Amino acid sequence: MNNREPDCIATENTQDSSSLRSAELRRDFKQNIPELLQLERLIRQHPQHLRVHTELTLHARQHEFPLYSITLGSVDTAAPTLLLMGGMHGLERIGSQVLIAWLQTLLERLNWDSYLQQQLAQLQLVLIPIFNPVGMYLNQRSNGNGVDLNRNAPINAEGDVPLLGGGHRLGPFLPWYRGRKNAHMEAENIALEKLMQARIFNRPFSLVVDLHSGFGMRDQLWFPYAYRKKPIHNIAEYVALKMLWERTYPNHTYVFEPQSVHYLSHGDLWDYFYLQARAQQQTHFLPLTLEMGSWAWIKKHPRQVFNMAGLFNPQMQHRHARVLRSHLLLLDFMLAATLNYRNWLPDEKQRGILSQTANSLWFR
Ligand SMILES: [Zn+2]
Repeated sequence: MNNREPDCIATENTQDSSSLRSAELRRDFKQNIPELLQLERLIRQHPQHLRVHTELTLHARQHEFPLYSITLGSVDTAAPTLLLMGGMHGLERIGSQVLIAWLQTLLERLNWDSYLQQQLAQLQLVLIPIFNPVGMYLNQRSNGNGVDLNRNAPINAEGDVPLLGGGHRLGPFLPWYRGRKNAHMEAENIALEKLMQARIFNRPFSLVVDLHSGFGMRDQLWFPYAYRKKPIHNIAEYVALKMLWERTYPNHTYVFEPQSVHYLSHGDLWDYFYLQARAQQQTHFLPLTLEMGSWAWIKKHPRQVFNMAGLFNPQMQHRHARVLRSHLLLLDFMLAATLNYRNWLPDEKQRGILSQTANSLWFR
């Protein structure tokens, strides 16, 4: 078990710790968490475009693991914000890899694309590509303490949850462990909460996409709630975003739904942050989870089922490259939707109609 130091949060630390690692540790990381090295390489190659913060340094197996956030674009609090996250579940590496691939393209384009430079100047873009670096290093869903970071928020489901998968308190030896009752959230989640307070909730509009994999045949975009089967206050805004996406990219096949259509769970981080944003009068905080449908990869390559990584990540090289390509458009769209939020957010009259649409789709 790792011993962690929540007090070593260093939000203004712009150093990356890569230069301090021994050759042996670099080899170890190359084998067990190559995503972190790839991210640090990008950070070193493009210092002119980004600001890097080490939100937290985690300790496990005598090693240090930085939890980086990368910020680009406007520092004006009047600018809207897009937050992109990956790697909350250590096994779901593909989410981190998709984000890093998108960031690489973005940084290269920023060198020559004046249109993109203008866009970025008008919004704040925050990326946390590897939210659970210890879990990723250990090749496990939970963090270094055996806690599932997305079952760890202090919020209980209003209804039946799937056995174990909905979150439980039996102990860290089983996946989906919520942590001890009445304990503080895990250090990663507390660091994220601080970032939310400082740089996300205080914006006029913020959109979040948190990348996961492992559920279902198709790629799905889920929005809260996970803890109850009732429509969220911003249901009309979610339907407007869904329709904007589907009208703009009619050939794409993401399923766009409330998470509660699939299952309820305890301790969902996005439920928690959404309610927190509401309590602070932040009227337009819209978190989404992208669940990449890994069962389709397994169907095409059934042997994948015999290794843990294969349940959550495409194993064949051509399929892996296709997954890295296939979500670039969605992330570009989210950037444009954030920047242009005033052009598609519904007015009062439209809100009524869109809420009715949501009711007939999901909440009969
Ligand atoms: Zn996940």
